Amino acid sequence: MAVKIIELCTNCHACLPVCPSHAIYETKPHFMVDPKKCTECEGDFADFQCASICPIEGAILNALGEAINPPGSLTGIPLEKMAEAMAELQAH
Ligand code: SF4
Ligand code: SF4
Repeated sequence: MAVKIIELCTNCHACLPVCPSHAIYETKPHFMVDPKKCTECEGDFADFQCASICPIEGAILNALGEAINPPGSLTGIPLEKMAEAMAELQAH
């Protein structure tokens, strides 16, 4: 089982040093997780260290392909409010 970093990743480097398995590596166009090395932090931490520090919602997926930090989870902005704000911005 392994997590996956997807294209939303902004290459901020935050996750690189916190991975206990050295499973994260820098590559283009975004950081990646070596699925052979990722242990999902089992035995080391109670939660995914990469996702705990990642500032980008949706950049890291669990083994089921679900965002560990889904939209709204870090900003605290409810999705409806965000949609309203975006609609308003686009109207101007
Ligand atoms: S879940 Fe844990 S072991 Fe896997 S990449 Fe993230 S920090 Fe590393
Ligand atoms: S912390 Fe998130 S945004 Fe930063 S490099 Fe890692 S996956 Fe990418």
